Amino acid sequence: MLAFENVTKRFGALTAISDVSLRIRAGVITAIIGPNGAGKSTLVNMAAGSYRATSGRILLDGAKLHDLPKHRIARAGLSRTYQNIRLFDGLTVLQNLEVALVTPHVGGLIADIVNPASWTKARQRRDKCLATLERLGIAQHAAKLAGNLAYGQQKLVELARAIVAEPRAVLLDEPAAGLNHGETAELRQHILALKSPEIAIVLIEHDMKLVMSVSDEIIVMSRGSVLAQGPPSSIRSNVDVQEAYLGQPGAIHDIEAAARGRRNRVRLRAGEDLAWH
Ligand code: ADP
Ligand code: MG
Repeated sequence: MLAFENVTKRFGALTAISDVSLRIRAGVITAIIGPNGAGKSTLVNMAAGSYRATSGRILLDGAKLHDLPKHRIARAGLSRTYQNIRLFDGLTVLQNLEVALVTPHVGGLIADIVNPASWTKARQRRDKCLATLERLGIAQHAAKLAGNLAYGQQKLVELARAIVAEPRAVLLDEPAAGLNHGETAELRQHILALKSPEIAIVLIEHDMKLVMSVSDEIIVMSRGSVLAQGPPSSIRSNVDVQEAYLGQPGAIHDIEAAARGRRNRVRLRAGEDLAWH
């Protein structure tokens, strides 16, 4: 249902993604793994409209995404989280979610103030956001400023924002990076709970224990190409994968340690474009 067809992305002389074709199904969890620089985030950024593909097509349920602006892609049912947290620090947790449900339109604010029908809509929006926070166990933080939450909680707010609009496809870019053991275990439960026949879940992760234990399908990327795709059992035993990625003994532990140590985030103020890179 989410398809990349012969997608290439060049940054000047660098080919970050080279003629990649992928099919990602609904109802399952698909992990994308691969060394840093393999092109995983670039795939997400192209699907979500942050980057334009140099060539090729990206389709959701057969509908073209690759020539739509970001907000239309979101409305078509694709959402994502960022490798580096991108919340509005100066808005509350609840407001960070509400932003994801509002389509910006000229005059919308005035209409919302004078029109009782839009009060109802606003209340419904709010209830939906609160229910989503509840689902992820962070409803008690709804009224707090996002910037004041602990790192692990901010990661959950990002996840909440990605699922609040009930997307058809959700792409999670390193959701466990920087989380401790307990937080990762909790995240794992939330990701498993997201699974339903209607939604395609894409998980980009370096934490192999997490990847192997939640994924139905694994895609291995290396240097802008797909090296292998299959269920966890076949990926584990794939010689190419072991050479290219799981490579030298201990390589995977280095990658995981680096991921755990990373607590990157991008600070945003209200009004700044989430598309910034
Ligand atoms: P991954 O997420 O697998 O670590 P990325 O998709 O972030 O890899 O990066 C793939 C390659 O594309 C890297 O060589 C990276 O430096 C390059 N790249 C990513 N984004 C940009 C950009 N905005 N401008 C230039 N090069 C980029
Ligand atoms: Mg990345």
